[in-house]
Amino acid sequence: MVKVSRIDKDSIADELGIVAGTELISVNGRPLADFLDWEFLTADEELVIEARQPDGEEIVYELERLDGEPLGVSLQPPTVRRCANRCEFCFIEGLPPGLRKPLYIRDDDYRLSFAYGNFATLSNVKERDIERILEYRLSPLYVSVHATNHEARKVLLNNQRVPDIKAQLSRLAAGGIQFHSQMVVVPGLNDGEVLEESLTDLWNMGDAVLSAAVVPVGITQFSHLYTGKTMDRQTAGAILDQVEKWGRRAKRERGETWVAGSDELYMLAGRELPSPEHYGEFAQIENGVGAVTALRMRVAAGLDRVSRRDGQRIGVVTGSAMAPLMGPLLDQLTDVSGATFELIVAENSLFGPTITTAGLLVGRDIMSALANRHDLDIALIPAETINEASVFLDDFTLDVVRGSLPMPIFPSYDFIDVLASESVGVAA
Ligand code: SF4
Repeated sequence: MVKVSRIDKDSIADELGIVAGTELISVNGRPLADFLDWEFLTADEELVIEARQPDGEEIVYELERLDGEPLGVSLQPPTVRRCANRCEFCFIEGLPPGLRKPLYIRDDDYRLSFAYGNFATLSNVKERDIERILEYRLSPLYVSVHATNHEARKVLLNNQRVPDIKAQLSRLAAGGIQFHSQMVVVPGLNDGEVLEESLTDLWNMGDAVLSAAVVPVGITQFSHLYTGKTMDRQTAGAILDQVEKWGRRAKRERGETWVAGSDELYMLAGRELPSPEHYGEFAQIENGVGAVTALRMRVAAGLDRVSRRDGQRIGVVTGSAMAPLMGPLLDQLTDVSGATFELIVAENSLFGPTITTAGLLVGRDIMSALANRHDLDIALIPAETINEASVFLDDFTLDVVRGSLPMPIFPSYDFIDVLASESVGVAA
């Protein structure tokens, strides 16, 4: 059974009299377990929907609709499948205490992998799930492989009962399912030969593996489970050598790089990031692979839209990871705007100094970085630091942070989104 959260006005569902709170029990005789069943079983043109209205009355709706005509039903969010692993490097386990409860949920859900691109390990999938993935053709999936070597993967996921990922992926691949894969690399555990084995196995799955990302382990001062080594410059460099060797082979044989190191891996190795061609369609940009290169591209493409701001002083808040890459970008913005940009590097007070990503800065960090800066006309902060409700990870709202500072602040994804607007941030 799934429950309706909202009905679009004048939609088919609205005309049928389905309302928010209605329980949808079955479609064409097949019971509904979750949003996937609803999504796929209602793809038919002729539907018999068994439902229970909020007052308890059971109704059967029979309808016919034109191909592709939306029913206008939104469902309540699904109950997320919890993770059965206990990875030492788990970022959730490394969260400080006292945050909002939902932030501590360790999801590992192939359904969300398909629907939203969340990475899943497939450790908790059962035979019935595999059958569903194949029947509904849930492709592509985003899979946290980490290592194809079964013994190494048990250690990495800290789970002795983890299924053999190679067998799982091979079976799904034979059924036409494709994957984006990632390896979070823990030095000494799944780099070197283990990484080589993983890349070889994934490569040998052919077209089924659409991309592979190699990401360095990231731990916070609260990562109480972690007993491994931290990623140093030399290890990061060795991993990149290995990844780029595979990337060159893939380019030669398949015409695309296929595997890439994350931006953070390049920063840790102290190496310049690859050019846009390296990333093809930027398949794993959400995973921090090519995000900086994409930012540079967006800035370059938007420079002619930046409005003149002669004489303005603009603060740009970032984390220490991005800081060394910002200089050339801010020089370009200075040239086209006439403003003076000042890079303000904030330290993460919540996760500790090992977390240097701009997007994980919290409201308190922004306030400390910009307090008493009466000399700035405006300041830009990373837009990734707030959620859809404009709340930072430490529960400060954007309004509260704004109210405490002497200059207007603007969340920005790529500078251009703020600086192109004549009406935003012009000095009083
Ligand atoms: S798979 Fe590992 S890293 Fe991901 S949520 Fe589970 S324990 Fe955490």
